[in-house]
Amino acid sequence: MYFGGRKQTRAIEYVVTESGCHECVSHQPKSKEYPIIAIKQKLIKIHRFVWEKHHGIIPDGMFICHTCDNKRCINIEHLFLGTPRDNWEDMFEKNRHKFHKFTESERAKIPYRKGQAISWSKLSDEAVKEIRNTPKIYGSGIALARKYNVSQSAISAARTKRKWKHVE
Ligand SMILES: [Zn+2]
Repeated sequence: MYFGGRKQTRAIEYVVTESGCHECVSHQPKSKEYPIIAIKQKLIKIHRFVWEKHHGIIPDGMFICHTCDNKRCINIEHLFLGTPRDNWEDMFEKNRHKFHKFTESERAKIPYRKGQAISWSKLSDEAVKEIRNTPKIYGSGIALARKYNVSQSAISAARTKRKWKHVE
């Protein structure tokens, strides 16, 4: 599993899906696991970070679960405090000495960009076609993202047919 070793903290960004999930796109965007943020090589799962930002420190031995079962979701409305649920959570807790508990002031320093309310459905079929027909040269993803006012992940999802599979 890739935990990332970058020293700089990136802002947490997400897109709003049709089911109302806030899918994190800024961290491990290709992984289906929980997005994790690394700060000074200390790690925290972003959904736990988000929960703590709203409700304070997670009590020892408790977990933050998803009502939507979408591990990439960081929508506070979809998160709830629960007891151990699955092995992965369990494993994570057993190794928690490797993980960092953030203090209030540390958390305050992490930029958390609230959703630009970009939905995957924002792109029209026409736009998706144009995106797929645009040569994949350096900078073209950024240009397309600006043009359609979506994230670069949305552009890449369109290109790779990860999304909008129905568009020919
Ligand atoms: Zn969700």
